[in-house]
Amino acid sequence: MKIIMLGAPGAGKGTQAKQIADKYQIPHISTGDIFRANIKEGTELGTKAKEYMDQGLLVPDELVVELVADRIVKEDCKNGFVLDGFPRTIPQAEALDEALAKMGGKMDYAIDVDVSDENIVNRMGGRRACLGCGATYHIVNIPTKVEGICDKCGSEVVLRDDDKPETVQKRLTVYHEQTQPLIDYYSQQGILKSVDGTRPMEDVFADIVGILGA
Ligand code: AMP
Repeated sequence: MKIIMLGAPGAGKGTQAKQIADKYQIPHISTGDIFRANIKEGTELGTKAKEYMDQGLLVPDELVVELVADRIVKEDCKNGFVLDGFPRTIPQAEALDEALAKMGGKMDYAIDVDVSDENIVNRMGGRRACLGCGATYHIVNIPTKVEGICDKCGSEVVLRDDDKPETVQKRLTVYHEQTQPLIDYYSQQGILKSVDGTRPMEDVFADIVGILGA
């Protein structure tokens, strides 16, 4: 099963993607996580990506497309994968379709986690991410057991630079301009499904399982 998660930054698509990956035993491929890992390791890709990420801008397509194309041909992707944060532009979606066509495949589902902008701005201010393992929390909805400390690895959890209010606003503008057109793109392919992302996490996941099948 090959799945794309769509939705504004902060809509909760990452959380849902992780649960989908667990339940259906397929890899969770998050381009944001890949960039953050590269930043942490101080790679050239990380240095380039950070310039854009800190401003709330998208990393240029050419830096992303190859990365994903190389990842989805790996052995662990043979039964499918869930893409989180990719594609984010029409050229990325077209490149993905091309890469899959070469492998004789195509995407099965694009799931849009729908949340209003106002709701996103409120959520993102409360979001916290672990400096060590990248796990994400929310000060109200998904708090850490000990304030400021990651439950999973014990490192410090912080407000990510790209979750700061002015950056969030910019990311939403970028989302509407560059990523939202993908909703029509996948609707035309007949694989778009929408879920109401404002409901509790477990209910959103139940809706997704209803779409994908138990
Ligand atoms: P995310 O964790 O998915 O919200 O991604 C964080 C940031 O990484 C985004 O705001 C972009 O700057 C960058 N990024 C992640 N995925 C992509 C992508 N597919 N295309 C361009 N930029 C991306």
